[in-house]
Amino acid sequence: LNDMATSGILMSESSKLYEEAMKVLVGGVNSPVRAAIRPYPFFVREGKGPYIFTVDGQRLIDYVLGYGPLILGHAPEPVVKRVMEYINRGWLYGAPTEIEVALAKKIVSHFPSIKKVRFVNSGGEAVATAIRLARGYTKRRKILKFEGCYHGAIDYVLVKAGSAAAHFGTPSSAGVPEDVAKLTLVARYNDLDSVERVMRSEGNDVAAIIVEPVMANYGVIPPREGFLKGLREIADKYGALLIFDEVVTGYRLGLGGAQRYYGVSADITTLGKIIGGGFPVGAVGARDEIMDLLSPRGPVFNAGTFNGHPISMIAGLATIDVLETTNAYDIAISASRRLAEGINDVLSRSGIDHVVNWVPTMLQVFFTKGEVIDHETAGKSDTKLYLRLHEELLKRGVFIAPSQFEAMFTSSSHTSDVVEETLRQIEDSVKALKQ
Ligand code: PLP
Repeated sequence: LNDMATSGILMSESSKLYEEAMKVLVGGVNSPVRAAIRPYPFFVREGKGPYIFTVDGQRLIDYVLGYGPLILGHAPEPVVKRVMEYINRGWLYGAPTEIEVALAKKIVSHFPSIKKVRFVNSGGEAVATAIRLARGYTKRRKILKFEGCYHGAIDYVLVKAGSAAAHFGTPSSAGVPEDVAKLTLVARYNDLDSVERVMRSEGNDVAAIIVEPVMANYGVIPPREGFLKGLREIADKYGALLIFDEVVTGYRLGLGGAQRYYGVSADITTLGKIIGGGFPVGAVGARDEIMDLLSPRGPVFNAGTFNGHPISMIAGLATIDVLETTNAYDIAISASRRLAEGINDVLSRSGIDHVVNWVPTMLQVFFTKGEVIDHETAGKSDTKLYLRLHEELLKRGVFIAPSQFEAMFTSSSHTSDVVEETLRQIEDSVKALKQ
């Protein structure tokens, strides 16, 4: 089946759809990474457990998982059941439902730094709201972010480091005004000295330091021992808030996210992905003093037609229920650990320079010598070789992201037989890389 698929016979349905898509969707897709699959993206018919089934009949073991949300795999029974029950009641009222209260209570119970929650519709919206809230609370203008951290498709954070002499950033997208980018300062991940340097000169106008506690959008890059704690101390010293963007890590590193895993508390937390069980969602959480500044209690505006959407809320609640009451994390964590070890073994035996970075349920391989600790060291890796690995794996029925600078995610549906099958395909793919 797979051979036929790659020879182009079975891919024809996807290629036809892609041609149609190119006429009416920009680049044929609605989010750019989806267009990175060569020669054209496969179109998906359905997903079940660890598998995606394409419209061409190919079965793929999925380590992309919708870019993170699907920690129970595709269409898990308990989530399907609750969504089906609720959807029959109707799904949008412009008035509160009990489900959003239940999901907020769960989040408050798992994150000690969160006393109240505001649900929005995406991680990017959560970040925009968190930044506005930090500015409203501190009455300061600037934020500090890290080179290589991604926080969504919003102006304040589509910013990269400017010239070496300046602390302020420059737009990383056309359409973001220089004046906006100037309010975003940029430091180096895992480098507290770089943070201290920026804060020493700009600290009294910095509303917040925002960080991905584990970088998950430049491959996977864990924080070095003491880095997050150091950020906490520097933020306190300069009276800035610390925002942990846990859109990826929230409920992925465990029930309390990165904050529990690393033992460091944020002032403001952004969540998304898993808390909607695969439906659109975002959330901001913090202590009362900060959250009560939000409308309708306070002067910092936020609103949304779809905020707290009942279907996203029930899917998130059902997902978290499973995470709380079953061995789902054990399976997903074992899968990620075994995959990291297995990839390491195969590549070591084949003599290819590589680094595998791992945290629970997430990993990524970089083809480089030495450690990968920030954007610069990650940027030294052979991204073409990674793409070839992606292509060889796709031919063999395994889907990893078509970009070095994404993560591999595991779920509770990635049982050991699925992972062992994956490792056999990785072994064959690496042999093909060497030819
Ligand atoms: N923050 C982080 C750490 C992310 O990884 C992402 C998306 O990948 C976002 C924010 C933006 O979330 P969304 O795509 O739901 O807007």
